[in-house]
Amino acid sequence: MTDTIPRSRDSEAGTEEATATDPLLICAPLRIEARALRRGLRDLDDAPAVIRTGYGTTRASQAAGRLSHDPFGQMMIMGVGGGLSTDLSPGDLVVGTEVGTVTCASAPILAGELRRAGLPARTGRIITVDHLVRRSQRAKLAAEGWLLADMESAPLAAAAGGRPLAVIRAVSDTPHHPLAGIVSGGLAALRSLRAAAPVAQRWAAACGTRQVLLAGPRSFCAGVERAIEIVERVLERQGEPVYVRKQIVHNTRVVGDLESRGAVFVDELDQVPDGATVVFSAHGVSPMVRREAARRGLAVIDATCPLVSKVHAEARRFAADGYTVALIGHAGHEEVEGTLGEAPDSTVLVQTAADVAALQPRDGERVAYLMQTTLSVDEAAEVAGALAGRFPAVRAPGSDDICYATTNRQVAVRAVAAGSDLVLVAGSKNSSNSVRLVETCERAGTPAYLIDGACDIQLDWLAGVSTIGLTAGASAPPAVVEEIISALSGLGPLTVQEKVTTTESIRFGLPKEVRQ
Ligand code: SF4
Repeated sequence: MTDTIPRSRDSEAGTEEATATDPLLICAPLRIEARALRRGLRDLDDAPAVIRTGYGTTRASQAAGRLSHDPFGQMMIMGVGGGLSTDLSPGDLVVGTEVGTVTCASAPILAGELRRAGLPARTGRIITVDHLVRRSQRAKLAAEGWLLADMESAPLAAAAGGRPLAVIRAVSDTPHHPLAGIVSGGLAALRSLRAAAPVAQRWAAACGTRQVLLAGPRSFCAGVERAIEIVERVLERQGEPVYVRKQIVHNTRVVGDLESRGAVFVDELDQVPDGATVVFSAHGVSPMVRREAARRGLAVIDATCPLVSKVHAEARRFAADGYTVALIGHAGHEEVEGTLGEAPDSTVLVQTAADVAALQPRDGERVAYLMQTTLSVDEAAEVAGALAGRFPAVRAPGSDDICYATTNRQVAVRAVAAGSDLVLVAGSKNSSNSVRLVETCERAGTPAYLIDGACDIQLDWLAGVSTIGLTAGASAPPAVVEEIISALSGLGPLTVQEKVTTTESIRFGLPKEVRQ
């Protein structure tokens, strides 16, 4: 016995196509699954229909045949399933990235939303089998890359017919909690399903036809590419571990990837064994750190971006000429600490025009200013203007300190923000230039969100949004942008248009220690 979707149109004739306003259809194979989901939805206005589709592959295929012409807008398959991986526990939720041969592209967004709702969710491939999976078969399927097995999702998925599709399965049994324990595991799974039900409605509300305006240039700059390549080359030559002082660049993906390959990120040199090799990050270090490395006999490979080194050299030059150096930057940033350390007795950090008003130089006729390389162009200009107003003879750096990559990305994101309902900025929270991109959009009047990846996209942001601007900070990998576009494509038809404001061809040479 299975349910049928309430029909709002004569869909059996198959003459009407789904529209964005057509409702979400939730398919649950078993009665107890459907009941748990309806309970989870009962407090919501306009709760979506939950259809019981029947147990096993045969009933799922029959249900798919009946449902395929129904006027639903999005389909979500929800139920319990057998975990295949040993690190799953009963009650965990698996959001399918692939279900049989069907791709569910929005899975990372959905899994992230479930986790923010406090549910233990992860993404993975779901296989549909025609019998209960026993112990030896679990290991075999897990080795093939499947995370969960069920008996209905793949045939049911065929009914989506190109409409947005998602699959959430709650783990009822695992290799460590096999079918003998399915009663307790089943209860945990049903509790998770019930709690996940409201998220299904939010997912459906976020679905729709969209355009992505892609800012160009975006993502890695020459200094970040160089720094990553330095660590990779040291790993290749010396093997793990390779010590890196601070994050090589401010991006969690980059750092996580290098860590998985043997890089060890430390906060200070006292965490590096005597005589070991240490890489200095792209943000640069102060001379005090260099002296300490020399004292410890560490072999140093310097990944400081040449454009940061340029600012260091300017600080030394101005200080040697008797200038008070006003460093426009953000307190606590590693680059700022490194630059301040070049001439600590002559350099003062100024973050705002108020700091400029409070500045007490030794000689008002000998004031110079420098900038952190990753500032907002507009904000830095304000502070520089305040300096020029108070000290008419103030010396500016010989060439712009805010680097080409920072400037180019701000210009590019401003161009897409103008035509977007919101902007997504790929980058980590501690990435200065990525945060500045968010601020640039906000100053232009467009809401913007900083995300490390697709899993950080909140479904509520997308409801009613038809044009999304997309960019990435200079430390965010291009692959993250691809991941975000792919995930958005799972929420409905997506077109991508790139707006290129300039092209970049700058490359920096590698230090001699890792050349060849
Ligand atoms: S953002 Fe600019 S200063 Fe920083 S690493 Fe990239 S090119 Fe160098």
